[in-house]
Amino acid sequence: MHEKNLETQLIHIGNGQFQKKINKSVTVPETLPIYLTSAYALEDVSSLDEIHANSAEGYLYSRDAAPNADAVSEIIAKADQGERGLLFASGMAAITTTILSFVQTGDHIIASSVLYGGVYSYLSNELARFGVEVSFADLINEDITPRIKPNTKLVYTETISNPLMEVPDISRISKEAHAHGLLVLVDNTFATPVIAKPILLGADIVLYSATKYLGGHSDIVAGVVVASGELISKIKRLQILYGSILSPHDCWLLARSLRTLALRIKKHSENALAVAQFLESHPKVEKVFYPGLISSPSYELTQRQFTKGYSGGMLSVNLKGGEKAALALVKAMDMIPFVPSLAGTSTTVSYPVKTSHRLYSKNEREKLGITDGQLRFSVGLEDSCDIINEIATSLDDGTNP
Ligand code: PLP
Repeated sequence: MHEKNLETQLIHIGNGQFQKKINKSVTVPETLPIYLTSAYALEDVSSLDEIHANSAEGYLYSRDAAPNADAVSEIIAKADQGERGLLFASGMAAITTTILSFVQTGDHIIASSVLYGGVYSYLSNELARFGVEVSFADLINEDITPRIKPNTKLVYTETISNPLMEVPDISRISKEAHAHGLLVLVDNTFATPVIAKPILLGADIVLYSATKYLGGHSDIVAGVVVASGELISKIKRLQILYGSILSPHDCWLLARSLRTLALRIKKHSENALAVAQFLESHPKVEKVFYPGLISSPSYELTQRQFTKGYSGGMLSVNLKGGEKAALALVKAMDMIPFVPSLAGTSTTVSYPVKTSHRLYSKNEREKLGITDGQLRFSVGLEDSCDIINEIATSLDDGTNP
C-alpha cells in the first residue's frame, strides 16, 4: 500500500481507528475520559439513517448530544429521581430555555416574588417582549388558585428562596397547579437533591444553576434540568436550536464534583446551622434568615420537605446598624471574601442589593424585605469554629461606631 506523506500521517494517525482499537480492550478507564470532539465519523451514509431511525446507536454532532453531558445527566437524574437530565452552559440557559419550551405569545406564568434577580429580570422584562405575561405572587403564604387564568401555563419557584431563605410548600403548589393542568418548575439550586427532591414532592421540572453546589468548587458555570423523558425531549429540541450546551470539559468537572455532593452538603448544612445559631445570639444582629433555625417560619416545612437535619449552606442576616454596618463587616472580614456568587468550598459573603438582586428596584426590594443592611453568607467547608471566629472578631472590629 502507498505509504502516506508525513503531513497526512500527522493528521490521521491516532484518531478514529485508534479509538476502535481501545474500544476492544478488556479494560475501561476508571473515570470517564473527556470526549473533546465536535463531530463523529460514520461508517457509511446508511449508518446515519439508522441513527436517525433509532435502529443504531451513535453520536453525531456535539451540539445535539455528547458522552460527557449524557454521563452527568444520568448521575443528576438519578440523584433527583427524575427520568432524564439535560446539561446547559449556565443556570440561566437552563431556566430560560426550559421556560421558552412551554410558553408562547399570549400565555401567562405565575412566579414567586422572591427569586434570583437574573430570573426575575428575565420574567419581568424579557418575556414581555414575547407577549408572555407574568404574575409575581407570595407563593409561601398565598394559594395560587386565585391567580390562575385560562392562559396560565406554568408556576415557577425556588426550593429555598434567594436571599430570604424561605421555603414554599412544593406539594401544595403542585397539587393546586396540576388541578388546572399547569407545569411546576422548581429551581433547586440552594437545596440540591441531597436536601430536597422536588419531583418526589410533585414538581414536574427541576432546574439548577450547577455553577453553585452541584459544581461546588467555584470553577465552572453550568446549568441542569431534570424531568420526565417527554418533557426533556421538548426542552432538548430548543437547546439544540439555541445551542446552549455545556462543554465536555465542564461536564467532566461537574461529574467529578457530584461524587462528593452528599458529603459536601452535609458539612455545608452543619456549618451553616452553627453560624446561624451564633449570629442569632449576637447583639449586633437584627434577624437571621436560615430555614434550619427553629425560629424560622419555614422550619416546620423543612422537617417535612427536607432531608432530616439538612437545610443547606446559605443564610442571610440583617445587621442592626443597617447599610453602614453591613459594608463595614464585609470590609473587616479577611478569611471571608466578598464574592457575588455562592456554594464554593470556602465561606463567602455577598451583598444582595448590589449583586444578585441589583435588578429589582429599591422599592420592590424593600417591599419584599431585601434590605440595605442585609448580607448573604455562603457557608463553606472550613472548620465551623474558624468561620464563627472570623465573623465574631470582624463584627467587633468593623461595626463599632
Ligand atoms: N438560580 C439561582 C438560585 C441562582 O442563584 C443563580 C445564580 O446566581 C441562577 C439560577 C443562575 O445561574 P447561572 O449564574 O449559573 O446562570
